[in-house]
Amino acid sequence: MGDFSGKSVMVLGGSRGIGAAIVRSFAAAGASVCFTYAGSADAAAAVAAETGATAVKADSADRDELVAAVAAAGALDVMVINAGVAMMGDPLTLDANAVDRLIDINVRAPYHAGVEAGRQMHDNGRIIIIGSVNGDRVPGPGFTAYALSKSAVQGIGRGLARDFGPRGITVNVVQPGPVDTDMNPADGPMAKRMHAAMAIPRHAHADEVTALVLFLASPAAAMITGTTQTIDGGLGI
Ligand code: NDP
Repeated sequence: MGDFSGKSVMVLGGSRGIGAAIVRSFAAAGASVCFTYAGSADAAAAVAAETGATAVKADSADRDELVAAVAAAGALDVMVINAGVAMMGDPLTLDANAVDRLIDINVRAPYHAGVEAGRQMHDNGRIIIIGSVNGDRVPGPGFTAYALSKSAVQGIGRGLARDFGPRGITVNVVQPGPVDTDMNPADGPMAKRMHAAMAIPRHAHADEVTALVLFLASPAAAMITGTTQTIDGGLGI
């Protein structure tokens, strides 16, 4: 797990799913952790009580609120940009406002939060964005909005890696395949079809994604930057 004692970590979207697992892991490794949430106040309070992390209500769709929350976190060692939403469906009928909100949360927020984190970040810090294998691969119809958002964060990661690299700050995108969370339950209606496309035919546990995040945040990963790290059980191969 590594030792993150004395490190300051912020996780965007830490109330549930992968983000909550990341909060738990960094807290268990000794870090001082704060995390944001938007709608799940009870879940956020439970994660905070369990881990000692600080929960901050900040909607990633609200740029001013988000940037203020990141700025208030001060000089970070690690920023994990995890908050995201998924929406599948025929682009001819999907609600345009809902698509724009997805783009706000999945694209605009990672850009602005990444920039703001970098403004105050300690040298040799880490920015990790949770993308998706759908940034590389679209396995069927109905993925356009989600896929565009996860391709976009690849560009944010590469760009910020160049911008902040001279300070030793690394920026990487972690791209999960199916992970058992509220967003994509292992017993959901799409699960069998997903498993059929995988080399290892199962959903990942959130902790398996967390292990990769903590590795990228560790000193051992100091020369890994601007990359996409796919953890998808072979869905994208
Ligand atoms: P969940 O829906 O289980 O949890 C999403 C988390 O993001 C919650 O903590 C939620 O907080 C937070 N969040 C959502 N919208 C906002 C917002 N507007 N502002 C602040 N926080 C927000 O999703 P997962 O844990 O499954 O997904 C996490 C990330 O991993 C996402 O970026 C997703 O795209 C990505 N991913 C997930 C995969 C999967 O199979 N599960 C596969 C590939 C990528 P709250 O409820 O408080 O609003």
